[in-house]
Amino acid sequence: MIGVVGGGIAGLAAAYRMQGRGYDVQVFEAADQLGGLAATYETAGDDIEKFYHHLSKSEETIVELAEELGLGDRIEWRIGTNGYYVDGVVHPLDTPWEILAYPHMSIYDKFRLGMLTQGIDVRGLVPDFDAYDDLAEYEHVTVREFVEEHTTASVYENFVDPLLDGKYGHRKDDISAAWFLGRVRFRGERDLLRGEILGYFDGGFGVLLDALVDAVGRENITTDAPVTDLTVAEGRVQSLTVEHDGEEASHDVDAAVVATMPNVLESLTGYACDIDFQGAVCGLVAMDESLLDTYWLNVAHDAPFGALIEHTNFVERERYGGNHLLYVAAYVQDQTAELWQMDDGGVRETWLAEIESMFPEFDRSTVSEFRIARNPRAAPIYERGYLDLVVPYHLDREVGEGVYYAGMASAAQYPERSLNGGVVAGYEVADRIDASLDE
Ligand SMILES: Cc1cc2nc3c(=O)[nH]c(=O)nc-3n(C[C@H](O)[C@H](O)[C@H](O)COP(=O)(O)OP(=O)(O)OC[C@H]3O[C@@H](n4cnc5c(N)ncnc54)[C@H](O)[C@@H]3O)c2cc1C
Repeated sequence: MIGVVGGGIAGLAAAYRMQGRGYDVQVFEAADQLGGLAATYETAGDDIEKFYHHLSKSEETIVELAEELGLGDRIEWRIGTNGYYVDGVVHPLDTPWEILAYPHMSIYDKFRLGMLTQGIDVRGLVPDFDAYDDLAEYEHVTVREFVEEHTTASVYENFVDPLLDGKYGHRKDDISAAWFLGRVRFRGERDLLRGEILGYFDGGFGVLLDALVDAVGRENITTDAPVTDLTVAEGRVQSLTVEHDGEEASHDVDAAVVATMPNVLESLTGYACDIDFQGAVCGLVAMDESLLDTYWLNVAHDAPFGALIEHTNFVERERYGGNHLLYVAAYVQDQTAELWQMDDGGVRETWLAEIESMFPEFDRSTVSEFRIARNPRAAPIYERGYLDLVVPYHLDREVGEGVYYAGMASAAQYPERSLNGGVVAGYEVADRIDASLDE
């Protein structure tokens, strides 16, 4: 039997592919719900992710998976409009004329930034197209060094720095230009006249998770079942110890896939990964009235959140019983952060007060529900030299033959973590197991 630790998208994708190849697979999930970071809440209509999610046009493996599961026609490509809140004003940034009208950058700065987002280096006499394709080249350069050198100092100060600050706070000067470039490419596809093209499932990402669970078979998945030990003897994996229903049981395995954050890998195997993680605090606010005109609003000032994301400006509110749904998104760099320390009541009050000060017309009596999700390891801190820290897919030399890793610290989740990356990591591991057990 092949044991999978973790029932997030990576563990489920690994299980799905191995089962398709004829292996007997069992998935053990510690929580009572599957899906990990993509787990959902119920609403008056469709379920919705606890943490905002969408697909980028560049992501192919997850689309292929959806097609294989008969869900190809459930992926909807929509326009995700963007705005930037600066000095009390919302600046929409979707169409060329909106970008031209943005007052906090000169035309020349916009041209330089525009060229960079198109992957064109205009520093020489002849423009270099596809200049930034090899991300590894920028692994050891900071975002500031890169942006200042490849555009202008004011592009960094007036545009990039506030975004970086909102996401990485005091760690912003550690972040690599490779992450920045990957992100530009990752979110790069636009409809020239309308804005960014993003994907979402009709019914939410829970539809994909449910189909994966059905394909793997409920009988092969156990929830409320944390794996507490992984035994390696004579250089290879032997068994997993699983807690379930107040009892501990040992399961013999031919291979084990750890599809969790790397701290769990360390506790199970002793393999230590040096990647730092940031936490996320994410509110989902149900309102009777809309707050924003955009889907995604980055906030360029010292607010207790980095972005406001009005989901129902992306997917119609009729799908959620008519409510307007707004995510309030904040990242914390460590658990000493003030926001992380607050209880949910404190977070709610702090955020509502900030929204009131940003949008004087906002009336908190229109809020009918306010749910808060937290995760201490929501994303890696993509610092310089990150690629040296990723965990290999097969830990044969580091831990023992038959021990595999498909979690967020794997190479598939670079330069940005995503559901697509989780599917790729699951597949990478399944292919390696297949090749090794086939020998
Ligand atoms: C705020 C936020 C926004 C995001 N936005 C997007 C987006 O727009 N688009 C996108 O594609 N991605 C997005 N992501 C990223 C995406 O959610 C993740 O990349 C993906 O869900 C990771 O899947 P995973 O299976 O690797 O890990 P996880 O989802 O973390 O799953 C790991 C699972 O392992 C379980 N586990 C842990 N310990 C044990 C144990 N000892 N035994 C058994 N089980 C255990 C956990 O409970 C969990 O269910 C976002 C994430 C966050 C937090």
